[in-house]
Amino acid sequence: TTFTSPPLDAHLISNIEFARYTVPTPVQKYSIPIVGAGRDLMACAQTGSGKTGGFLFPVLSELFLKGPASVPEDPNAGYRGRKAYPSVLILAPTRELVSQIYDEAKKFAYRSWVRPAVVYGGADIGTQLRQIERGCDLLVATPGRLVDLIERARISLANIKYLVLDEADRMLDMGFEPQIRRIVEKEDMTGVQDRVTLMFSATFPRDIQYLARDFLKDYIFLSV
Ligand code: AMP
Repeated sequence: TTFTSPPLDAHLISNIEFARYTVPTPVQKYSIPIVGAGRDLMACAQTGSGKTGGFLFPVLSELFLKGPASVPEDPNAGYRGRKAYPSVLILAPTRELVSQIYDEAKKFAYRSWVRPAVVYGGADIGTQLRQIERGCDLLVATPGRLVDLIERARISLANIKYLVLDEADRMLDMGFEPQIRRIVEKEDMTGVQDRVTLMFSATFPRDIQYLARDFLKDYIFLSV
């Protein structure tokens, strides 16, 4: 198996080749056709399995194939800073993890219209706001900082087409469930029927099963 079967967008394949990945890992091999078919996914996969590519590759491929979505006029443009309308939201538990995902997203979105951005707690919010203003099609975030930015009306979830919860079990262990529920159950978040939702977790205990039941629709369960 290579990255051309099942097919990914040609520009994404050239970026994957530039990264010298030649063969998809098992989680990537299975996630690509599932996400390509518009299905929700609950994947049990460990760090080191290539799970980051498992969600970035099919999501970026679909975005590249579809092209940019039009965003609503922002009445606050140029006043107190523009509001960002990302198409992709990736939630992960720690600064280290969101930074790694962001670096991978930059690598694979290279020379495309997709502009990745990253936000996390414990760092200057002004710097992050300026980065978001420069472009935020794919946002990688820790839950607490994202709630803060939503409350400041600097990020809208009304355009989200792909929602990814990475290391969901670790996010719950760290006590992020209330923030995650506030984000995903927010009234302007794209409805579960109109978005593709992907959850990744090393383990599948009861509380993760409940999140999957509440956030995913008719999902495919993958264990690698
Ligand atoms: P992850 O599980 O996403 O943290 O990935 C673990 C490591 O494997 C990272 O260093 C990736 O750069 C690398 N990797 C992911 N997918 C592939 C692939 N298809 N071929 C070679 N290396 C990969």
